[in-house]
Amino acid sequence: MKHCPICNRTSEEARFFGEFCEFCLGGKLREKLAAEVDVEVCRDCGRVKVAGAFVPYTESSLERLLSIKFKPHTVKMIHISNGIARISVGDEKHQGLSIDYNVHLKPRKVLCDDDAKKRAGYYEAVVQLRGEAGRVERVAMSLSKYLEKNGAFVTKVESKEHGIDVYTSDKKVAFAFISSRHLKFKGSFELHGEKRGRRLYRNTYFITLPK
Ligand SMILES: [Zn+2]
Ligand SMILES: [Zn+2]
Repeated sequence: MKHCPICNRTSEEARFFGEFCEFCLGGKLREKLAAEVDVEVCRDCGRVKVAGAFVPYTESSLERLLSIKFKPHTVKMIHISNGIARISVGDEKHQGLSIDYNVHLKPRKVLCDDDAKKRAGYYEAVVQLRGEAGRVERVAMSLSKYLEKNGAFVTKVESKEHGIDVYTSDKKVAFAFISSRHLKFKGSFELHGEKRGRRLYRNTYFITLPK
């Protein structure tokens, strides 16, 4: 029978890892872990920055973030409430030893690249939809959804007398939508700058929707 040199528990009372009991080793692990962790959250979209990219604020995203912060220990999310994550931390040195641990998530408000561009009014293309009001609205709506689903964003939407103008961050995605719907358009291209020796154009797609 073993006796833990720190707390004097016996191997009948506790599991042992080497010469120490699980409680004492768990305590040592606890001391090594940070009490709070900075979490970068976009002030506009609420996404969280994990490994350099902004992703939805979910328990699994936070689990990944905490796994990175608590390396080389392993982290399993139990739950998050009131800004405190309850996690299970596995000791990297002692296979099978894990503790439940509460860590404060300290939000730091930042702005993701997409929202920084949005705030700056960034756009690469304008899709001008004209035609019957109801139809224009439906197409504008599905265009917006399509853009966001494909990694672009809508900078602004403007109601015009005979339709709607949709400004977007990504002309390729805008064009892909137009092609997929087989919409006829008149295009115009306006030079608006240069980036690393490449000319940048803003594209305008004028579309009269069929009745
Ligand atoms: Zn002990
Ligand atoms: Zn954002």
